[in-house]
Amino acid sequence: MERETMCIQAGYTPKNGESRMIPIIQSTTFKYDTSEDMGKLFDLEASGYFYTRLQNPTNDMVAAKITALEGGTAGMLTSSGQAANFFSVFNIATCGDHVVCASTIYGGTFNLFNVTMRKMGIDFTFIDPDCTDEELENAFKPNTKAVFGETIANPALVVFDIERFAKAAHAHGVPLIVDNTFATPINCRPFEWGADIVTHSTTKYMDGHDTAVGGAIIDGGKFDWMAHADKFPGLTTPDDSYHGITYAEKFGMGGAFITKCTAQLMRDFGSIQAPMNAFFLNLGLESLAVRMPRHCENALKVAQYLKGHDKIAWVTYPGLPGDKYYERAQKYMPNGTCGVISFGIKGGRAAAEEFMKHLKVAMIATHVADAHTCVLHPANSTHRQLTDEELIAGGVGPDLIRLSVGLENANDIIADLEQALG
Ligand SMILES: *Cc1c(COP(=O)(O)O)cnc(C)c1O
Repeated sequence: MERETMCIQAGYTPKNGESRMIPIIQSTTFKYDTSEDMGKLFDLEASGYFYTRLQNPTNDMVAAKITALEGGTAGMLTSSGQAANFFSVFNIATCGDHVVCASTIYGGTFNLFNVTMRKMGIDFTFIDPDCTDEELENAFKPNTKAVFGETIANPALVVFDIERFAKAAHAHGVPLIVDNTFATPINCRPFEWGADIVTHSTTKYMDGHDTAVGGAIIDGGKFDWMAHADKFPGLTTPDDSYHGITYAEKFGMGGAFITKCTAQLMRDFGSIQAPMNAFFLNLGLESLAVRMPRHCENALKVAQYLKGHDKIAWVTYPGLPGDKYYERAQKYMPNGTCGVISFGIKGGRAAAEEFMKHLKVAMIATHVADAHTCVLHPANSTHRQLTDEELIAGGVGPDLIRLSVGLENANDIIADLEQALG
């Protein structure tokens, strides 16, 4: 199946007389005829459902659709993108371990790794994704358990060299985890370039309509845990909290990661997505392949308009010829990147503040990547506690405006920018 077809049909095939749309199984519990039947589920001897804190059929149908779109072997939904990224790392790295991570990642993920997960005893080395080979090599330690990056960084819009980082990770016997939120599997499938685990904030383009917060984790099924058994004891030695099951033996390369993540982390942390939200996510996914090209087309028109405007100091958009990451984006995402642009107005912070006041179509919101065009001036909102010097050091200068181009007619978006620029 092509991706357009998967968006509509993957994950759920109704049998004779069943509902065409995926059913919302709004139930916390599931009934069994005998205790033995249920016991088999607890022993992971049979697959099935017993409690929605761990797994729910509606969620699994939607996870199966995303897994198909990414070309993976197993997947799961989480309550948010934050939960997905936390689980993806914590499933293989624990107290005393270390992770190599691109420095240009989403602020929420950076905080999760650099503050909260450090408190759990996990060490991170953040490296410039355009670092030299030597710098990359030096970032690895004997206790490194994973490498992490974003296909297109939010909000820096840096395109991650997936193939290069996958090779480096594999040379050190660890998997590459890629947050593919901004590109979506419509524009990039990281597994095709060597990534091992893909995560998503489905809150963004996948839902696409400002409706439901959610996340997803997908396994590409190609990382051989047993070949690096000493590094990943959680997968390659018996789990006492699950009757001595060894995940990598019992579920193989294709299933071990997600089974452990469900059986241990979802059981213990309970960051499950509500089945109702999974239903909304599925509605969004049905049109994802139609929406992404329009987001990219609109964003390119807006980026070209801004680039040619004499009041604009600079524009960053990896889909724009001449952009620092244009060539790399052509390699990984020849059909388009995403709908998010960043730019600066001549006159810096004050000019940005004035411009924001006049926008009518583009609405001020902290959100990005959905049908509604939205705009954010980080220096005056999400990052307002920082000084100008700190902002510049963080790559989010005082003049930076982040524009998430939606699905409205591009002419209306451009006319709005035009009148606001004055
Ligand atoms: C928004 C976002 C997240 C966090 O997702 P939530 O659904 O808000 O928890 C993670 N990664 C990227 C790239 C994001 O844009």
